[in-house]
Amino acid sequence: TDLTELVRNHIREIPDFPSPGILFRDITPLLADGPAFTALIDGLADAYRGSVDAVAGLESRGFILAAPLAAALGVGMITVRKSGRLPGPVIGVDYALEYGDARMELRPETIADGQRVLIVDDVLATGGTGAAAVELVQRAGGQVTGLAMLLELADLGGRGRLEGHRVDSVLVY
Ligand code: 5GP
Repeated sequence: TDLTELVRNHIREIPDFPSPGILFRDITPLLADGPAFTALIDGLADAYRGSVDAVAGLESRGFILAAPLAAALGVGMITVRKSGRLPGPVIGVDYALEYGDARMELRPETIADGQRVLIVDDVLATGGTGAAAVELVQRAGGQVTGLAMLLELADLGGRGRLEGHRVDSVLVY
């Protein structure tokens, strides 16, 4: 689609960042381009209008997309954060990263029982972060309507790890 091409034209590929052998996809050119960023948020809002009650953004880059999307939809924005950032009470999920471990946390009272929650992040890689977010939203009583990702690195198999959930990616590598 036009949106896919627009995104493709505003992503920078950086070899060996943050470590050797990694090809990092940098979304900052897209964010810095007003018309492109606006078109992205408008496109996402059109896709989900009326079907979600809240948008959950994943720290940190997921916040950048989730907040304007939630505002455009007229629903609340929920922050799923890295360990130790949120004042309690929180629930947490530990998961493995390619190198090392991570933990995501959520204040369960920010989600009402049965609320339809869309999970948003910039990149779907192995799916570990997305799977942790799904578990947190469900444990808080929310209903995950799907995951919206700006970019998907298909080789890393994240979609398989999120089986049973709708996963929409604007651009798949
Ligand atoms: P996963 O848990 O799916 O393996 O990794 C996804 C997380 O890593 C996302 O929160 C995303 O921000 C980050 N990430 C992994 N690779 C990239 C990349 O190439 N570019 C950007 N911008 N983020 C990445």
